[in-house]
Amino acid sequence: TNVLHWFRSKDLRMQDNKGLHAASQKAKEGKGSLLGLYVYSPKDLEWHGTSPARIDFLLESLRLLKEDLEEKNIPLAIVTAAERKNVVPSVLDFVKKWDVSHVYADMEYEVDELRRDIKVAEHAKEKGWGFEVLHDQTVVQPGTLTTGAGGPHKVFTPYHKDWLVETKENPGLLELSPEPEGNDEKAKKEFKELFGGDLPALPEGKSFASDEERSRLRKLWPAGHTAGLERCSDFLKNKVSSYATHRSEPAKDNSSRLSPYFASGVISVREALPLAKKHNANKHFNEGDKGIDSWVREIVFREFYRHTLIGLPHDSMNLPHNLKFDFVEWEDDEEGWKKWCEGKTGVPFVDAGMRQLNHEAWMHNRCRMNVSSYLSGNLLIDYRRGERYFAEHLIDFDLANNHNGWEPSYTIFNPVVQAEKCDKDGEFIRKWVPELKGLKGKEVFDPFHRLGKAEFEKLGYPRPHVDFRESSLRAKERYKRDLAEA
Ligand code: FAD
Repeated sequence: TNVLHWFRSKDLRMQDNKGLHAASQKAKEGKGSLLGLYVYSPKDLEWHGTSPARIDFLLESLRLLKEDLEEKNIPLAIVTAAERKNVVPSVLDFVKKWDVSHVYADMEYEVDELRRDIKVAEHAKEKGWGFEVLHDQTVVQPGTLTTGAGGPHKVFTPYHKDWLVETKENPGLLELSPEPEGNDEKAKKEFKELFGGDLPALPEGKSFASDEERSRLRKLWPAGHTAGLERCSDFLKNKVSSYATHRSEPAKDNSSRLSPYFASGVISVREALPLAKKHNANKHFNEGDKGIDSWVREIVFREFYRHTLIGLPHDSMNLPHNLKFDFVEWEDDEEGWKKWCEGKTGVPFVDAGMRQLNHEAWMHNRCRMNVSSYLSGNLLIDYRRGERYFAEHLIDFDLANNHNGWEPSYTIFNPVVQAEKCDKDGEFIRKWVPELKGLKGKEVFDPFHRLGKAEFEKLGYPRPHVDFRESSLRAKERYKRDLAEA
């Protein structure tokens, strides 16, 4: 009998993949072959609103993964499930057809995905084959770090502190899983049908505006494990040292831009962290370079959001973390919505961020914080519409990170003050909002209020859709009223 590793959209790599490694061990024990499967489900991608940029990145990474595996005579079958309900049957059919005795996979924590895995586990039990799902998305397994009182951590700072202790005391957590052992040459013949083959096309309605558009994004975000590791090394060599001081300044562009790779598991966080440690003269993350300390803290946020996701499954069911926010009466401001999407709100820092997103399929973290605060806090538009828009446009969409980023709150950023602090010279705004390119001084942060009427009108730039102070007050009062009634 044979052993299968079922790849999903968060572990698209051959290196340091726990499930794949376990499958390889099992195949060796039983003297069977190791097979790989990915079920391509266009309807799932549609349901989750996945962006064309992310789908293309996934497919390209799959193509490269297939090549990596085939060098070891391991086939990666890519099966298309026409409907969402066909995903589980596709796996079951594969198991039967290819005489599989054990299936391995890496855990996904969202409710839909857990339900899917439960169905597979029930079938496996009934039919007598093995199904094992391993924790592989994080270095520290979600749910394992607890407070002094024994409950799961709910607050980031103590979680972060414990995470640093845990990874220092258990260096084994940072050890990589070995690559799978290959199959014999004869597997090529036996599983001929599963080798080679064409990749699926982008689903209908998810295509790029043009081939040039696709090539441009592929250049910006080269797919695959090798490209991901190169990006990581380049970041550590050239950017991380200034990360602590400049990470909030979008014009500096000094973050790693590794989020698409982590979100799809094209490289693992476990691969990146030892490289960071090496760069830190092998000191623990918080005991050397301030840049490393600060960068790893962001990675720990990623770990923390997976940890809270398992405790609060409603986070992946279109409900806010704080359920009281579900009772807010949001505004139907279609004009404001359209302006927000297009980066034409009349607030330069917000517009620059949105235009970066629309052009690069990615946005700097500081801008994500500002545009999300503006949508829910100033336009008073349901934050879920923004969450969805991000899913539809980001190449790095990740439910846990995105959902936590979008959580509505009483803290509403003043985007003019934010820009003056984080884009001191207005360089980022000028790059993305060419209407304001000619403005030299502080006018660039708030042209409507800082220029004379005639001068402003010459710019061809929209006036602010809402007044910042009035709209912030409106949101806070609305939250107060609706949360009190919740
Ligand atoms: P770096 O600064 O180099 O950080 C390294 C890695 O740490 C990132 O690749 C990411 O995996 C993780 N990370 C960084 N910042 C955060 C954070 N605030 N929360 C959790 N993990 C973090 N991140 C996503 O990966 N996918 C999303 O869909 C997503 N949506 C967001 C939506 C909003 C409204 C906000 C405020 C933040 C969102 N983030 C999301 C978090 C963050 O903005 C991105 O991870 C980061 O900008 C990616 O750029 P980078 O790889 O250069 O990050």
